[in-house]
Amino acid sequence: MFQWLLLKENALSAAENTVWKESALRIILVSGLLLEFGIGLLSAMDAVKVGAYYIVVIVTGFFIALSMAVFASLRRPVIGSAMLIATIYAAAFCIVYFIRDTEIAKLGIMFVYTAPLIARIFFGSRLALVLMAVNVFPFMLLIRNEPLPRYPGLEMSLANAHAYIQALLFLFFNICVPLGVFRLLHALDAAIRRHRTASMELESSHAQYQEIFENAGGAILLCDAQARILKANSLADAIIGRQDKKNASMFALLAHKCKDKEDKTADILSLKPGQEFETRDGRLISIETISPTSEKHYIVLLRDISQMRRIQEALNRSKERESFLSSHDHLTQLPNRDFMLQQLSAAMSAMPPRRQLALIIIRLDSIKYVNDAHGSAAGDDLIVAFAGTLKRLLPEDSLCGRLRSVVFGFTIESTYGSRDSIPQIEHIRRSLPEELVINGERHPVQISMAVAFSRPGETDGDELLQRGKIALDTARRSGNQSVAVFDDEAAVQIRRRLNIEQAILMALPENEMRLVYQPKVTQDGEIVGLEALIRWRSPTLGDVSPAEFIPVAESSGAIHFITAFVVDSVCTYIRQTLDAGQRCLPIAINLSAIDIVRADLLDLVNSSCQKHRISSDYLEFEITETGLVGNENLAISHLEALNAKGYGITIDDFGTGYSSLQKLSRFPTKSIKIDQSFVAQIGISEKSELIIRAVVSLAKILSCTTVAEGVETLVQEKFLKAIGCQFFQGFYYYPPMEFQQVNQLLKGR
Ligand code: C2E
Ligand code: CA
Ligand code: CA
Repeated sequence: MFQWLLLKENALSAAENTVWKESALRIILVSGLLLEFGIGLLSAMDAVKVGAYYIVVIVTGFFIALSMAVFASLRRPVIGSAMLIATIYAAAFCIVYFIRDTEIAKLGIMFVYTAPLIARIFFGSRLALVLMAVNVFPFMLLIRNEPLPRYPGLEMSLANAHAYIQALLFLFFNICVPLGVFRLLHALDAAIRRHRTASMELESSHAQYQEIFENAGGAILLCDAQARILKANSLADAIIGRQDKKNASMFALLAHKCKDKEDKTADILSLKPGQEFETRDGRLISIETISPTSEKHYIVLLRDISQMRRIQEALNRSKERESFLSSHDHLTQLPNRDFMLQQLSAAMSAMPPRRQLALIIIRLDSIKYVNDAHGSAAGDDLIVAFAGTLKRLLPEDSLCGRLRSVVFGFTIESTYGSRDSIPQIEHIRRSLPEELVINGERHPVQISMAVAFSRPGETDGDELLQRGKIALDTARRSGNQSVAVFDDEAAVQIRRRLNIEQAILMALPENEMRLVYQPKVTQDGEIVGLEALIRWRSPTLGDVSPAEFIPVAESSGAIHFITAFVVDSVCTYIRQTLDAGQRCLPIAINLSAIDIVRADLLDLVNSSCQKHRISSDYLEFEITETGLVGNENLAISHLEALNAKGYGITIDDFGTGYSSLQKLSRFPTKSIKIDQSFVAQIGISEKSELIIRAVVSLAKILSCTTVAEGVETLVQEKFLKAIGCQFFQGFYYYPPMEFQQVNQLLKGR
């Protein structure tokens, strides 16, 4: 109610308080001293004139007292202030006591009325109240109009006493005290201004703080040591779902998500960055940071990781899916070859010393029949059903995968060297159904099956797989449904094959290969052609027969370069012979099955002939029957292109394949070569002789010439001549020879 009167306390510092108090004190004292000096001097002079010397003494006394008070205010302001109050009372007393004129004397009393104010300024309210009470006595004196105490025997008075007292009052009330109070008010104004700026600054920094708190880019909580939320920004409120803003506990709103039980204490001191919580509405949040403040509060920065976690999980799922797809066969969902290989190598590496792994390879042979009879969709269904059936028959720990289109593999673990897995494998084979019913249709299940065993210390799954493959080939050749086991002979074969595959890579760049030529003769023994045969002398493997390395080169792709080399070498030889002015005979080049279907075959031959300026009459190509099986149409179109260019074409090894007469008529064949296996049986096997006769008459029907290869004896020659074979090749005539020898031979004729 009295606030407008009392005003609010200012937050002024104690130091500031004394500064303006001292300043006000000095202002009052100095101005008081000056006015006392002026008025005192005038009244003293008047007093001397009338002989009132006591006035001079009093005036001087006051002057000294005030000077001392000024001096004291510099050192001990408290003493200065006390002296000022004492001087005021002394002045009032002197005016009352020593002035004869009662009216003037009464004015002196008014001085004391300023004492409470001054006391309040310098000593506080208590002294001021005391003085207010004390001042009641002089006041009563005046009100009652009682005679004032008087200096006895006071006869005269100063003529100007009235003016002096009035001037004293005027100057004290109108100048000294106001100046002191002005000083105080000035200090107060300045303090209010400072306070106002300070509070404005405070307000703006609070607003800034609020803004930072709201928009710091995270959800922020301010908690006390009991985890009660004192403040939260709106993001934090939204995340944790705080509605009741009073005293909500952080742990009441959040439930621990950590698996670790120790982490579950609901204590803010045990909170750690990275801990995860679940909000009531199922969001996942994590503690980003937690930092204590100077007031024993905690700033907790939260992060909503639900979205991130969902993305992460989706990513993981898609990664898993992707890795599953890349490592599994899409049709049967079984591991694919690469993945099976990885698993196999891993299993072999982890194998205890006295254990071994049997790898069983199964080929679903009846697929061809199902594809042909019911279409490839039915074939796919059969594969899926077969894979499922097989998988169900296998032990839990067995690895099982789809290695190639209809080739599957699985493993059985057993004691090393015991072969005790064989009965188990046989049992699985017998358990496989003879037919599978798919969509009401019965499909036959015919398989070939083979097994290869891991060796102690062996970790390469690829080699085991190779052995399995060889065993499977054996099984398929044997045609019965027993399990073929990969043996040591096959191991030697495989190692040799791998060695050849390695060495062949450097054979051409290192000039390890060359050609030899075997003459072809007429019935009269006249040389009418040559066959180019490749030779390879490897520094590591010695002489390797083409019968051995050509199939390896075919499967490794090296045949590509070998054929290019043969074609180029033959053309070079022909060019040299022609350049030397010698007679040159047509040369036959052997093409492998892969060569016949390669797209650039014609280009390769043509560009080599062009390069060496050779006509197509000088080149012939020998193609085995088996080389034509498979991609028949493509092979025929390539052969026709060669034939159209004038290159002669011979069917090599005739009789070993399955060419029917009708098939043969589709090839642009110039001649047929009777396989040496039949020739070798002349005079031994009537059946072989019959075949040879048939081939010769067949050739006649197709208007082809016949060549017998591998002729070694007179008996053979006689027989072949007798049945009308036109051309001959064999050791009986000439072995394959170096080109210099051939040149010598041809020169001599
Ligand atoms: P091929 O085309 O049937 O070649 C005939 C094979 O019989 C040659 O073996 C030859 O040296 C051998 N030979 C010749 N006369 C007689 C004989 O009176 N008795 C016996 N027992 N053998 C005889 P070679 O040179 O070891 O070639 C083996 C096979 O390698 C060839 O069989 C051919 O299929 C393939 N070949 C050879 N050179 C090349 C080539 O440059 N490219 C391709 N793709 N294959 C080639
Ligand atoms: Ca040949
Ligand atoms: Ca042959």
